[in-house]
Amino acid sequence: MDMIRLDAGCGALALSTLRGASGGDDAYAAFNVCHYTGDDAEHVGRCRGELAAVAGVDADRLVIPRQTHSVNVAVVGDVMPDVENVDALVTRRSDVALVVNTADCLPIVLNDGAGGVVGVAHGGWRGLYGGIIEATVSAMKGCGAETERVRAAIGPCICGGCYEVDEEFAEMFAAAFGEEVRIVYSEGGKPHVDLREVALRQFERCGIGRERVFVSELCSRCDERLFSARRLGVRSGRIATVVKRVLT
Ligand SMILES: [Zn+2]
Repeated sequence: MDMIRLDAGCGALALSTLRGASGGDDAYAAFNVCHYTGDDAEHVGRCRGELAAVAGVDADRLVIPRQTHSVNVAVVGDVMPDVENVDALVTRRSDVALVVNTADCLPIVLNDGAGGVVGVAHGGWRGLYGGIIEATVSAMKGCGAETERVRAAIGPCICGGCYEVDEEFAEMFAAAFGEEVRIVYSEGGKPHVDLREVALRQFERCGIGRERVFVSELCSRCDERLFSARRLGVRSGRIATVVKRVLT
Protein backbone atom coordinates (compact mmCIF):
# COMPACT_ATOMS: atom_id res chain seq x y z
CA MET A 1 0.00 0.00 0.00
CA ASP A 2 1.44 3.37 -1.06
CA MET A 3 0.48 6.45 0.89
CA ILE A 4 1.41 9.92 1.96
CA ARG A 5 1.40 11.10 5.55
CA LEU A 6 -0.62 14.15 6.51
CA ASP A 7 0.59 16.30 9.39
CA ALA A 8 -2.35 16.79 11.73
CA GLY A 9 -0.28 17.25 14.87
CA CYS A 10 0.54 15.02 17.83
CA GLY A 11 -1.80 12.26 18.86
CA ALA A 12 -3.08 11.32 15.42
CA LEU A 13 -2.00 9.07 12.60
CA ALA A 14 -3.23 10.65 9.36
CA LEU A 15 -2.62 9.49 5.80
CA SER A 16 -3.98 9.44 2.27
CA THR A 17 -3.56 6.42 0.01
CA LEU A 18 -2.04 6.50 -3.48
CA ARG A 19 -3.22 4.26 -6.31
CA GLY A 20 0.00 2.26 -6.33
CA ALA A 21 2.47 1.23 -8.98
CA SER A 22 0.06 -0.75 -11.17
CA GLY A 23 -2.58 1.97 -11.46
CA GLY A 24 -2.70 2.89 -15.12
CA ASP A 25 -5.88 2.49 -17.17
CA ASP A 26 -7.71 0.24 -14.71
CA ALA A 27 -9.98 2.72 -12.95
CA TYR A 28 -9.90 0.72 -9.70
CA ALA A 29 -6.22 -0.20 -9.58
CA ALA A 30 -4.35 -0.68 -7.56
CA PHE A 31 -5.61 0.31 -4.14
CA ASN A 32 -9.25 1.14 -3.39
CA VAL A 33 -11.39 0.67 -0.25
CA CYS A 34 -14.52 2.44 -1.53
CA HIS A 35 -17.46 0.01 -1.74
CA TYR A 36 -20.02 2.07 -3.66
CA THR A 37 -18.38 3.26 -6.86
CA GLY A 38 -18.41 0.00 -8.81
CA ASP A 39 -15.31 -1.91 -7.69
CA ASP A 40 -15.66 -5.61 -6.89
CA ALA A 41 -16.19 -6.50 -3.26
CA GLU A 42 -13.29 -8.95 -3.10
CA HIS A 43 -10.78 -6.30 -4.19
CA VAL A 44 -12.23 -3.73 -1.80
CA GLY A 45 -12.09 -6.26 1.05
CA ARG A 46 -8.47 -7.13 0.36
CA CYS A 47 -7.48 -3.45 0.30
CA ARG A 48 -9.36 -2.82 3.53
CA GLY A 49 -7.35 -5.55 5.21
CA GLU A 50 -4.13 -3.82 4.18
CA LEU A 51 -5.35 -0.40 5.26
CA ALA A 52 -6.50 -1.71 8.65
CA ALA A 53 -3.08 -3.26 9.23
CA VAL A 54 -1.32 0.03 8.47
CA ALA A 55 -3.74 1.90 10.75
CA GLY A 56 -3.26 -0.69 13.49
CA VAL A 57 -6.93 -1.66 13.85
CA ASP A 58 -9.03 -4.74 13.10
CA ALA A 59 -10.62 -4.62 9.64
CA ASP A 60 -14.09 -4.23 11.15
CA ARG A 61 -12.84 -1.13 13.00
CA LEU A 62 -12.29 0.84 9.82
CA VAL A 63 -15.28 3.17 9.73
CA ILE A 64 -16.12 3.95 6.10
CA PRO A 65 -19.29 5.96 5.47
CA ARG A 66 -21.55 5.97 2.43
CA GLN A 67 -20.98 9.59 1.44
CA THR A 68 -23.63 11.66 -0.28
CA HIS A 69 -22.24 15.23 -0.32
CA SER A 70 -24.29 15.93 2.81
CA VAL A 71 -23.20 17.85 5.90
CA ASN A 72 -24.10 14.94 8.17
CA VAL A 73 -21.60 13.99 10.86
CA ALA A 74 -21.64 10.67 12.75
CA VAL A 75 -20.05 10.26 16.18
CA VAL A 76 -18.34 6.91 16.70
CA GLY A 77 -18.85 6.23 20.40
CA ASP A 78 -19.67 3.12 22.42
CA VAL A 79 -21.84 1.85 19.60
CA MET A 80 -21.05 1.97 15.92
CA PRO A 81 -23.36 4.57 14.33
CA ASP A 82 -25.25 4.22 11.06
CA VAL A 83 -22.88 5.63 8.45
CA GLU A 84 -25.22 5.71 5.45
CA ASN A 85 -25.65 9.25 4.12
CA VAL A 86 -22.77 10.56 6.23
CA ASP A 87 -19.86 12.77 5.10
CA ALA A 88 -17.90 13.28 8.31
CA LEU A 89 -16.96 11.20 11.34
CA VAL A 90 -15.61 12.09 14.76
CA THR A 91 -14.50 9.98 17.69
CA ARG A 92 -12.70 9.81 21.02
CA ARG A 93 -12.02 6.11 20.54
CA SER A 94 -8.48 4.96 19.89
CA ASP A 95 -9.43 1.52 18.51
CA VAL A 96 -11.12 2.75 15.35
CA ALA A 97 -9.78 4.38 12.19
CA LEU A 98 -12.04 6.93 10.48
CA VAL A 99 -12.01 7.01 6.68
CA VAL A 100 -13.37 9.20 3.88
CA ASN A 101 -13.14 8.41 0.18
CA THR A 102 -12.48 11.13 -2.39
CA ALA A 103 -11.42 11.63 -6.00
CA ASP A 104 -10.99 15.39 -6.53
CA CYS A 105 -13.05 16.49 -3.49
CA LEU A 106 -11.17 17.58 -0.35
CA PRO A 107 -10.35 14.99 2.29
CA ILE A 108 -10.04 16.81 5.61
CA VAL A 109 -8.56 15.53 8.88
CA LEU A 110 -9.00 17.23 12.25
CA ASN A 111 -7.25 16.52 15.53
CA ASP A 112 -7.41 17.84 19.06
CA GLY A 113 -4.41 15.88 20.31
CA ALA A 114 -4.55 17.00 23.93
CA GLY A 115 -8.31 16.62 24.08
CA GLY A 116 -8.24 13.20 22.45
CA VAL A 117 -10.74 13.84 19.68
CA VAL A 118 -10.22 13.24 15.96
CA GLY A 119 -12.39 13.79 12.92
CA VAL A 120 -12.43 13.33 9.18
CA ALA A 121 -14.61 14.98 6.55
CA HIS A 122 -15.38 14.77 2.83
CA GLY A 123 -15.50 18.27 1.40
CA GLY A 124 -16.87 18.50 -2.11
CA TRP A 125 -18.17 21.85 -3.28
CA ARG A 126 -21.66 21.12 -1.92
CA GLY A 127 -20.37 20.09 1.47
CA LEU A 128 -17.94 22.99 1.73
CA TYR A 129 -20.60 25.47 0.69
CA GLY A 130 -23.08 23.87 3.08
CA GLY A 131 -20.70 24.03 6.06
CA ILE A 132 -19.24 20.52 6.46
CA ILE A 133 -16.16 21.89 8.27
CA GLU A 134 -18.24 23.87 10.72
CA ALA A 135 -20.48 20.82 11.32
CA THR A 136 -17.47 18.58 11.97
CA VAL A 137 -15.80 21.06 14.33
CA SER A 138 -19.09 21.42 16.16
CA ALA A 139 -19.41 17.64 16.58
CA MET A 140 -15.83 17.49 17.87
CA LYS A 141 -16.62 20.18 20.43
CA GLY A 142 -19.55 18.03 21.51
CA CYS A 143 -16.98 15.30 22.23
CA GLY A 144 -14.83 17.62 24.34
CA ALA A 145 -12.54 19.20 21.73
CA GLU A 146 -11.51 22.85 22.03
CA THR A 147 -11.02 24.79 18.82
CA GLU A 148 -7.86 26.53 20.02
CA ARG A 149 -6.15 23.11 20.18
CA VAL A 150 -7.45 21.71 16.91
CA ARG A 151 -5.03 21.11 14.06
CA ALA A 152 -6.11 19.99 10.65
CA ALA A 153 -4.89 18.70 7.31
CA ILE A 154 -6.26 18.88 3.79
CA GLY A 155 -5.19 15.87 1.74
CA PRO A 156 -4.74 15.47 -2.02
CA CYS A 157 -7.60 17.06 -3.99
CA ILE A 158 -8.24 19.06 -7.14
CA CYS A 159 -6.14 22.21 -7.43
CA GLY A 160 -7.52 25.62 -8.34
CA GLY A 161 -5.90 25.43 -11.75
CA CYS A 162 -7.84 22.26 -12.60
CA TYR A 163 -11.16 23.41 -11.18
CA GLU A 164 -12.76 25.40 -13.96
CA VAL A 165 -16.32 26.52 -13.22
CA ASP A 166 -18.98 28.76 -14.72
CA GLU A 167 -19.48 32.41 -13.80
CA GLU A 168 -22.50 31.83 -11.54
CA PHE A 169 -20.69 29.19 -9.56
CA ALA A 170 -17.61 31.38 -9.09
CA GLU A 171 -19.82 34.29 -8.05
CA MET A 172 -21.63 32.16 -5.49
CA PHE A 173 -18.34 31.11 -3.88
CA ALA A 174 -16.77 34.58 -4.04
CA ALA A 175 -19.87 36.02 -2.35
CA ALA A 176 -19.80 33.42 0.42
CA PHE A 177 -16.06 33.13 1.06
CA GLY A 178 -14.37 36.21 -0.39
CA GLU A 179 -12.97 37.27 -3.74
CA GLU A 180 -9.68 35.40 -3.11
CA VAL A 181 -11.32 32.03 -3.75
CA ARG A 182 -12.02 32.98 -7.37
CA ILE A 183 -9.12 32.73 -9.81
CA VAL A 184 -9.22 34.27 -13.27
CA TYR A 185 -6.21 33.28 -15.33
CA SER A 186 -6.99 35.24 -18.47
CA GLU A 187 -9.39 38.01 -19.35
CA GLY A 188 -12.55 36.55 -20.85
CA GLY A 189 -11.47 33.03 -19.81
CA LYS A 190 -13.54 30.78 -17.60
CA PRO A 191 -13.09 31.34 -13.87
CA HIS A 192 -11.65 28.78 -11.47
CA VAL A 193 -12.37 28.25 -7.80
CA ASP A 194 -9.72 27.29 -5.25
CA LEU A 195 -11.53 24.87 -2.96
CA ARG A 196 -8.53 24.62 -0.62
CA GLU A 197 -8.82 28.36 -0.01
CA VAL A 198 -12.57 27.92 0.58
CA ALA A 199 -11.75 25.32 3.23
CA LEU A 200 -9.09 27.48 4.87
CA ARG A 201 -11.58 30.31 5.13
CA GLN A 202 -14.16 28.06 6.66
CA PHE A 203 -11.56 26.89 9.19
CA GLU A 204 -10.79 30.52 10.07
CA ARG A 205 -14.48 31.16 10.70
CA CYS A 206 -14.40 28.26 13.16
CA GLY A 207 -11.45 29.79 15.00
CA ILE A 208 -8.81 27.53 13.44
CA GLY A 209 -6.18 29.72 11.78
CA ARG A 210 -4.52 28.61 8.58
CA GLU A 211 -1.18 28.25 10.35
CA ARG A 212 -2.71 25.20 12.04
CA VAL A 213 -3.87 23.60 8.79
CA PHE A 214 -1.46 21.44 6.77
CA VAL A 215 -2.30 21.53 3.05
CA SER A 216 -1.05 18.79 0.73
CA GLU A 217 0.25 20.19 -2.56
CA LEU A 218 -0.81 17.11 -4.49
CA CYS A 219 -3.55 17.57 -7.09
CA SER A 220 -5.69 14.53 -7.84
CA ARG A 221 -6.39 15.70 -11.39
CA CYS A 222 -2.76 16.52 -12.24
CA ASP A 223 -1.02 13.62 -10.50
CA GLU A 224 -1.63 10.16 -11.95
CA ARG A 225 -0.69 8.48 -8.70
CA LEU A 226 -4.09 9.61 -7.42
CA PHE A 227 -7.64 8.69 -8.34
CA SER A 228 -9.52 11.50 -10.06
CA ALA A 229 -13.18 11.41 -11.06
CA ARG A 230 -12.38 13.93 -13.77
CA ARG A 231 -9.55 11.87 -15.27
CA LEU A 232 -10.98 8.36 -14.73
CA GLY A 233 -14.75 8.94 -14.52
CA VAL A 234 -16.95 8.66 -11.43
CA ARG A 235 -16.94 4.87 -11.70
CA SER A 236 -13.42 4.56 -10.39
CA GLY A 237 -11.50 4.04 -7.18
CA ARG A 238 -11.08 6.62 -4.50
CA ILE A 239 -8.29 8.09 -2.40
CA ALA A 240 -8.80 6.87 1.16
CA THR A 241 -7.91 9.38 3.86
CA VAL A 242 -7.61 7.98 7.36
CA VAL A 243 -7.30 9.39 10.84
CA LYS A 244 -6.71 7.37 13.98
CA ARG A 245 -5.92 8.46 17.51
CA VAL A 246 -2.48 7.41 18.65
CA LEU A 247 -1.95 7.19 22.36
CA THR A 248 1.31 8.82 23.42
ZN1 LIG B 1 -4.40 20.25 -10.77
